[in-house]
Amino acid sequence: NSSKHDKDKGVNVQVIVRCRPLSEDEMRVHTPVVISCNENRREVAAVQNIANKQIDRTFLFDRVFGPTSQQKHLYDLAVSPIVYEVLEGYNCTIFAYGQTGTGKTYTMEGGARKKNGEFPSDAGVIPRAVKQIFDILEAQHAEYSMKVTFLELYNEEISDLLALEEPSKFVDDKSKKPIALMEDGKGGVFVRGLEEEITLLNKQSSRSHSIFSITIHIKECTPEGEEMIKCGKLNLVDLAGSENISRSGAREGRAREAGEINKSLLTLGRVINALVEHSGHVPYRDSKLTRLLRDSLGGKTKTCIIATVSPSIHCLEETLSTLDYAHRAK
Ligand code: ADP
Ligand code: MG
Repeated sequence: NSSKHDKDKGVNVQVIVRCRPLSEDEMRVHTPVVISCNENRREVAAVQNIANKQIDRTFLFDRVFGPTSQQKHLYDLAVSPIVYEVLEGYNCTIFAYGQTGTGKTYTMEGGARKKNGEFPSDAGVIPRAVKQIFDILEAQHAEYSMKVTFLELYNEEISDLLALEEPSKFVDDKSKKPIALMEDGKGGVFVRGLEEEITLLNKQSSRSHSIFSITIHIKECTPEGEEMIKCGKLNLVDLAGSENISRSGAREGRAREAGEINKSLLTLGRVINALVEHSGHVPYRDSKLTRLLRDSLGGKTKTCIIATVSPSIHCLEETLSTLDYAHRAK
């Protein structure tokens, strides 16, 4: 997957796997571990031996993060370079894909709230990216504007998680101080103090996709003294649980919901496959998710898929289908 190859073809998709640790409950009952990660070799192996059935499969990815990997480590290696691309004018998307309970939201948003103004060590991709963007722009004394949207996609219907009609969503339990929201007059919303308040906003269902997007315009001067505006966009997407694919796929004619979740996840897979394989027709229009992200998938863009998995024996079937889906995107 050389970068030269990627550049020639104009597609850049990076696929990463992250395996979470066993939970305390799983450890208490001595849940067998069937996933092993070799970060240096960038390999994930699924191994299980039962009397007459043996599963032994190894997958190679662009990067692998094992159960002890820290948020900062994953961010610095996998996300930070993408933020630099965004500030250079690329549209980039990072997806968290995986079974419910494997760490998509932990990876994207992270754990505890900020304490005493300190940045928590388990802060995830979204707050770290916001901080990095502000830090770089401030250090450059750049003149810039930033627009943020936070959308939820459920049953192929979009709702705005920053909707102004529901101010209660933005009220901090303790201080009851609403977050400052500013409209840009074109349907966009600016959030004041976003960096601090971001963790309040999301109560995501395992059946919905959430899409956090930052659009940045930076004013620059050419050496000739001409003014130009550079525009980049970063989408951070916490996808619906991947188990929705297999379950609804298994039974025909189930509730519309399952089918619609399916549609976005399956179409996303097809779009990425089409981009990676340069197969001509890219079915962006087949789902809302891919329509929403169309300007950030394909062309001069970068895409990163973080596939999250559980190490537990009880999740093995879903883990294998997650690894297959992710591997197909490579
Ligand atoms: P998902 O969003 O995929 O449904 P969550 O992010 O809610 O999964 O994670 C499920 C639980 O596992 C949470 O309690 C979370 O804190 C924990 N968890 C997930 N990934 C990790 C990790 N890499 N390290 C420590 N805890 C994790
Ligand atoms: Mg989640």
